[in-house]
Amino acid sequence: MVITSPVVREKPQQSLFDVAVEQFNIAADVIGLDDDLRRILSTCKRELIVHFPVEMDDGSVQVFTGFRVQHNLAAGPSKGGIRYHPDVTLDEVKALAMWMTWKCAVMGLPYGGAKGGVQVDPKQLSQNELQNLTRRYATEISLVIGPHTDIPAPDVNTNPQVMAWILDTYSMHRGGVAVPAVVTGKPLQLGGSAGRLEATGRGVVFAIEEASRVYGLDLGKATVAIQGFGNVGSVAARLLHEHGVRVVAVTDVNGGVWNPKGLDIRALLEHARATGTVAGFTEGEAITNRELFELPCDILIPAAIERQITQENAPRIKARLIAEAANGPTTPEADRILFDRGIIVLPDIYANAGGVTVSYFEWVQSLQHFYWSEAEVNSRLKEIMTRSFHAIRGVAEQYHVHMRTAALALAIQRVAEITRLRGIYP
Ligand code: GLU
Repeated sequence: MVITSPVVREKPQQSLFDVAVEQFNIAADVIGLDDDLRRILSTCKRELIVHFPVEMDDGSVQVFTGFRVQHNLAAGPSKGGIRYHPDVTLDEVKALAMWMTWKCAVMGLPYGGAKGGVQVDPKQLSQNELQNLTRRYATEISLVIGPHTDIPAPDVNTNPQVMAWILDTYSMHRGGVAVPAVVTGKPLQLGGSAGRLEATGRGVVFAIEEASRVYGLDLGKATVAIQGFGNVGSVAARLLHEHGVRVVAVTDVNGGVWNPKGLDIRALLEHARATGTVAGFTEGEAITNRELFELPCDILIPAAIERQITQENAPRIKARLIAEAANGPTTPEADRILFDRGIIVLPDIYANAGGVTVSYFEWVQSLQHFYWSEAEVNSRLKEIMTRSFHAIRGVAEQYHVHMRTAALALAIQRVAEITRLRGIYP
């Protein structure tokens, strides 16, 4: 296929935390938030940076850098994932922590926001090294995490096994009795929740279904393109496919595949399992990540990392609806372009909030040692996704703003009200 697009080069890059603050200020302007609350809510409460040694399999020692940032604790303990990625920075983790605060508030969860990360490419580590790194990082951040203070979960390149090691490390420091509520997204055998692994992808699909119903998009005829085939993108692809929605393109870091007739997602999952990537799947045409965004399709799902929809590609996006399964995939410049073009964006702090919502269910179950069925988890998730969609839409109509600003305005209003009621200590 011939889609020519220049290499994306944004203007000298705004830091990701600056992006988060810019989005915050736009919404704060809309609700007329006073300056004192603006100062409080646009600041991260705690920022922990740790440098720690890990013994590698060859006997050498390497020093890694990690972070845990708690943006806000007004509504309850802070909540948010831990990512392992070579490019993780304090700035990025701060932005992601702030977005977690808004994500939890928009869904009505009793949490503040946090995020963690380690600068590492986990694919370069053996299982043993990964475990050593995780246990040492967990020890370093055990200063600030805990079942009633700050509860980690999986994020980019972390998974239930990593959560199991964090749970065990934290518990061993307290005499060894398991403290299951210290993390979510853990294996079922350790008190994980039914439906948590699929929750983010499933929430994205609930969001798309509700938006399609409200905006009159016929999902039976719709086509979908997905960037990212990790835990979120692959589950969204599978569920959409099972619901009879045509997924026409999927990419991952190595490239991807396009088939306007619709991809056989089961076969693609099998291919990805066998080869580690969706690239090279032969039932369609090879495409790059860049090409994916400009394909003819009705729904676009960025399910990878930040800043993928930019002022460069936003003018050429053909989708009517974008569901942000990733955190921060759209730059503020691109946001303005999409809004002017009438493209509906289901913002990250809503669209991918199914993950943290089921994390909340998991935490409640872990604290009570009383476990729910998957059907119950999924139906409660659907209820909260649907209710939140309409709450955001109400704000969007009230202030004549797009869904991102509306979701932020709703979230900021809620956290501001809690902060006002609690007052400034002392
Ligand atoms: N890492 C996920 C997110 O960005 C989940 C966080 C959680 O479950 O605490 O929302």
